[in-house]
Amino acid sequence: MTKIFEKISDKNHEQIVYCNDPSSGLKAIIAVHNTVLGPALGGCRMYPYKSEEDALVDVLRLSRGMTYKASISNLNLGGGKAVIIGDPNKDKSEVLLRSFGKFVQSLGGKYITAEDVGMSVHDMEFIRMETDHVTGIKRAMGGSGDPSILTALGVFVGMKAALKKRLNIQSISGLKIGVQGFGKVGYYLCSHLKNEGANIYGNDINKENLDRVEEEFGVIPVASDELMSMDLDVFSPCAMGAVINPSTIENLKCSVIAGAANNQLEKEDRDSKLLKEKEIMYVPDYVINAGGLMNVANELQGYNKEKAKYQVEGIYYILMRIFDYAANNNISTLEAANLLAERRIQDYIKWNHQQ
Ligand code: NAD
Repeated sequence: MTKIFEKISDKNHEQIVYCNDPSSGLKAIIAVHNTVLGPALGGCRMYPYKSEEDALVDVLRLSRGMTYKASISNLNLGGGKAVIIGDPNKDKSEVLLRSFGKFVQSLGGKYITAEDVGMSVHDMEFIRMETDHVTGIKRAMGGSGDPSILTALGVFVGMKAALKKRLNIQSISGLKIGVQGFGKVGYYLCSHLKNEGANIYGNDINKENLDRVEEEFGVIPVASDELMSMDLDVFSPCAMGAVINPSTIENLKCSVIAGAANNQLEKEDRDSKLLKEKEIMYVPDYVINAGGLMNVANELQGYNKEKAKYQVEGIYYILMRIFDYAANNNISTLEAANLLAERRIQDYIKWNHQQ
């Protein structure tokens, strides 16, 4: 067995497709992790990976994450992801994107692509010239448009679920919420928080983004270190990953961590247990930020904004179930989410065999 087969088997991936098209310069890998619940949906990332090995490791990790995210979100979708090796600022072209679209089409709907880091909604339109299996198209083109609005709504309702469970509080009014990153999601999240009367603190390395929320929502700027060690009801990471690690956990004084950022925990198992010991309720990132996935998934049946919004509001109940399961079994909220996501897939397999 080659090393690649070992890597694929390690996390039970179903299929890996290497896409090579010298005429367009395309070098891409599509990873289909699991299609038990439905076709594998997941974004396409374009990134100048240092090596093919790095690209493979990334696509295997990300596609597996999508399986869990779709499952816990009660979507009839599996998990997949694609990576294009290259610099999106230099190497992207219409033919490269169309060539990628042809490879997606060749899988006959087993993998459905969408936007991710290094790709734009505009790029999806070129991919769509070659395949029907693409989501995240502009509203004007019949798609679901910018997913950040519903991702932010999901983070807001998820925050409320955690506050209800951890502090028995129904409203965010008067609470101290610290937000790290006021980009697309952070901005829309602030509008919900402001509407409900929260006191918002936060920072952003982009001064324009910080100034905008200061002006529009009265956000109080605080330095990054200070934000992660101040007395807060909620800390909401909405910028980058790995911000929760043993050294930041030592200083954290919040009751809840609830934010949009992907891969918030530096080491999932270690850090989720440390947070549990400290009685900080961690809202699993892939559950609370699933609003964007729900939004694009909705596009597959013909986009309906009201339906998508309703589904995203359901993140509140999905999380309540996770919190109860974690409490009843004395496990971390992340472990509970993972177990429930795996269970849905296993239950479906059993049910399908019995029919
Ligand atoms: P974005 O790029 O629009 O915003 C990120 C913001 O974080 C920017 O304003 C940036 O300046 C700021 N930032 C970067 N590094 C920072 C630092 N060290 N300290 C403070 N601020 C910093 O991204 P987004 O679409 O708002 O997404 C935010 C996070 O949520 C990302 O991790 C993303 O992967 C995740 N996410 C987004 C969506 C979505 O629908 N957009 C869905 C799921 C997950």
